[in-house]
Amino acid sequence: MIAELKIETKLGKTVAAKDLDGFDEVIIATGVLPRNTDIPGQDGNNVVNYIDVLRHKVAVGKRVGVIGAGGIGFDICEFLAHEGDSPTEHLPAWMKEWGVSDPAEHRGGLAPEGPQPEPSAREITLIQRKAEKHGKRLGKTTGWIHRSALKMKNVSFVGGVNYERIDIDGLHVSFGEARENPTLIEVDTIVMCAGQTPERSLADALIAQGKNCHVIGGADVAAELDAKRAIDQGTRLAATL
Ligand SMILES: Cc1cc2nc3c(=O)[nH]c(=O)nc-3n(C[C@H](O)[C@H](O)[C@H](O)COP(=O)(O)OP(=O)(O)OC[C@H]3O[C@@H](n4cnc5c(N)ncnc54)[C@H](O)[C@@H]3O)c2cc1C
Repeated sequence: MIAELKIETKLGKTVAAKDLDGFDEVIIATGVLPRNTDIPGQDGNNVVNYIDVLRHKVAVGKRVGVIGAGGIGFDICEFLAHEGDSPTEHLPAWMKEWGVSDPAEHRGGLAPEGPQPEPSAREITLIQRKAEKHGKRLGKTTGWIHRSALKMKNVSFVGGVNYERIDIDGLHVSFGEARENPTLIEVDTIVMCAGQTPERSLADALIAQGKNCHVIGGADVAAELDAKRAIDQGTRLAATL
C-alpha cells in the first residue's frame, strides 16, 4: 500500500523536533522504552533489556534470568531457547518438536514417540514478582501454547520474589512481604522485560516548542502487547485529518 499510494519514506534516521518544521500535522508513533526497575546493580555489564536482545542482537550468556513474565518475557524466553532458525518456519522440525504426525498414519495426528524438542540453547529462569501461576494473564487461546513451549525447553519458573540486587554472580531475590529465604539465581545474563513506559521525548520536545502533534500507540499508552489499539488509534486519527 505504501508503494501504491506513493508514500515517501525516510528510514534509518532518528527524528528530532527540528526535522518536523513545515508539516501541517505531525503524528508521533514512537512506541515505548523498557521500564526502569531500579534494582541495585542493574547497570552492570550482565544486564540487558529485551530491545537490546531483539533489535540490537547483544550477546546473551548460556545461563539467563528473564525478569518479568508478561507476554514479552515469554517471547524472550522462547527466542533465547532456540538457536538458529525457528522450527515454526520448518514444518517437519515443528511437527517433531510438538509430536504431530499425519492423521492418516497415526490416530489423532499424534506421533507415537511424542514431542521431541531440541534441547534448549540456554538454561533459562523466568522470574516474576507476582505469586501466581506464570502466564496466567496471557491470551486465553494461546497462553497454554507459550507455557508448554517453555516447559518443553525446561525453562524454570520462579515467582513471588522481591528483586534485592544484581551482581557478578547473578540475581539475588527474597520471597514474600517479610523478604525471607534469600536466594541467588546464578546466571550470566539478566534480561529485563519488566514493562514499558511511553517514549514521548519527541512529542514533549514539540509541545515545549508550542507545536501541535497527535500521539498514538505505545507512545500514548504503553500497555503491553496491544498492537490492535495502536492500529485502531492510527486509523481513526487518519480518518479525521
Ligand atoms: C516481543 C514483543 C512481542 C509482542 N507481541 C505482541 C502480540 O502478540 N500482540 C500484540 O497485539 N502486540 C504485541 N506486542 C506489542 C506491539 O508490538 C506494540 O503494541 C505495537 O508495536 C505498538 O505500535 P507503535 O506504532 O505504537 O510502536 P512501535 O511498533 O514500537 O514503533 C515505534 C517505532 O518508532 C521508532 N522511533 C522512536 N523514536 C523515534 C525517533 N525519534 N525517530 C525515529 N523513529 C523513532 C522506534 O524505533 C520504533 O521503530 C509485542 C511487543 C514486543 C516487544
